[in-house]
Amino acid sequence: QDDQFKKVVSHAKEYGYIFQSSEIYDGLSAVYDYAQNGAELKKNIRDYWWKAMVQMNENIVGIDAAILMHPTTWKASGHVDAFNDPLIDNKDSKKRYRADVLVEDYCLKIENKIEKEVKKAEKRFGDAFNKEEFVSTNGRVVGYQEKINTILSRLGKSLENEDLADVKLLIEELEIADPMTGSRNWTEVKQFNLMFGTKLGASADSAMDLYLRPETAQGIFVNFLNVQKTGRMKIPFGIAQTGKAFRNEIVARQFIFRQREFEQMEMQFFVKPGTQKEWYEQWKENRMKWHLSLGIGAENYRFHDHEKLAHYADAATDIEFKFPFGFKELEGIHSRTDFDLKAHEKHSGKKLQYFDHEAKESYVPYVVETSIGLDRMFLAIFSNSLVDETLEDGSERTVLRLPAVLAPTKAAVLPLVKKDGLPEIAHKIMDDLKFDFNVTYDEKDAVGRRYRRQDAAGTPFCITVDHDTLEDNMVTIRHRDTMEQQRVKIEDVRGIILKEVDM
Ligand code: ATP
Repeated sequence: QDDQFKKVVSHAKEYGYIFQSSEIYDGLSAVYDYAQNGAELKKNIRDYWWKAMVQMNENIVGIDAAILMHPTTWKASGHVDAFNDPLIDNKDSKKRYRADVLVEDYCLKIENKIEKEVKKAEKRFGDAFNKEEFVSTNGRVVGYQEKINTILSRLGKSLENEDLADVKLLIEELEIADPMTGSRNWTEVKQFNLMFGTKLGASADSAMDLYLRPETAQGIFVNFLNVQKTGRMKIPFGIAQTGKAFRNEIVARQFIFRQREFEQMEMQFFVKPGTQKEWYEQWKENRMKWHLSLGIGAENYRFHDHEKLAHYADAATDIEFKFPFGFKELEGIHSRTDFDLKAHEKHSGKKLQYFDHEAKESYVPYVVETSIGLDRMFLAIFSNSLVDETLEDGSERTVLRLPAVLAPTKAAVLPLVKKDGLPEIAHKIMDDLKFDFNVTYDEKDAVGRRYRRQDAAGTPFCITVDHDTLEDNMVTIRHRDTMEQQRVKIEDVRGIILKEVDM
């Protein structure tokens, strides 16, 4: 499991999908950049979602609200309350949160100790010092690292069930105590602000404190009436949006699974009070269908219905995905009642009611929300697609079996050799195809190696131009997953590929 996860991370870098943010400065913790292929894959996932949610539903429209919002928004949403995270809304979650913080603190302390050892050794050995070698061989450092690894691997498992008793046991079992004082103080509560603060206005005394939004949902709630009126929407209707959200996460260690800057794809569906249960069930079903439509395998998904509900919800479930580190939340579906709209009414003094012409009455609608992390969806697809295969002839290949509709590049055009007019034909084919989808050109190395390169990069089709092409105007299409090769007329290539890659 661990190995598979490491492979995913290194493959994502090697094939231009994901880089660490500001890597030349040793990176920024839990912040990542999407590279040339990653940006395309991410865009395709976003488009696939948008098409299914907005384009295919007459009663759902999309908006793009600002990241910066009036600060009262976050009072209304509950984000600036004492504990700062509305998700920490019941006692057990608060306790779990404290446990997270404690364990994270402990790991940080160990990391600092490692850093100290490294600095000491650096001083001692001077120019001859090799950091990599030192951390992998020095007994003390290796010991510290093992400790952190044990804690983290167990952490994921045990913090999952939100049970403090378990976490406590775990901590005792691992003998986690403050490494400086040896104390095991469980009662100390730290105040953390999960929101990133910033300022609006240049001069210090007139500046206004703002936050980067920790969720996109509020941009939809505050615009509910604007959209309803200008779009002449009738309940039930939905508002969708995709965009960045920021959270100062405490435990942020699982690559793009939990980042400090990430992207959400959310849809708030406004319904008549009393009908929310039906809509909640309907959206559970719709969203699962959407996931299954990508063909990644039903066994990789499951629902996790919440028993303990947040104060604003009357039903909630997660769609969990089997990530390399186990089943984890990918998407949340929540029946949020009228909590958000009522809170905004209270804080803004404005009415956020809908006049129902049929029932001849006004009411504050109830909301059923679907909320999925784009980065988590990316990780789900990417990690599941990466496989090592042993072929019939005993050789190995690494293939990234991305669903063709999502693949960053749909086809690579390969002239068999770099001469005899084959590159010219290949370029001509490429120029014809690039209006419809992303194509790439590759003429370096033997064709077998080029196939492998495209397999690993996730390109679903290779189009090979050979000497026969000069005679018969036909090319070979090679399919990434089956490695089958098919001889087709040049003019048919476009149609064959479009059939597979069109959303
Ligand atoms: P978790 O319990 O994993 O922290 P959450 O319950 O806080 O998630 P929500 O607030 O419901 O998540 O946000 C909706 C979706 O946004 C999640 O299902 C997840 O896919 C995504 N998401 C939330 N936090 C992060 C993060 N730090 N990095 C990447 N994606 C995230």
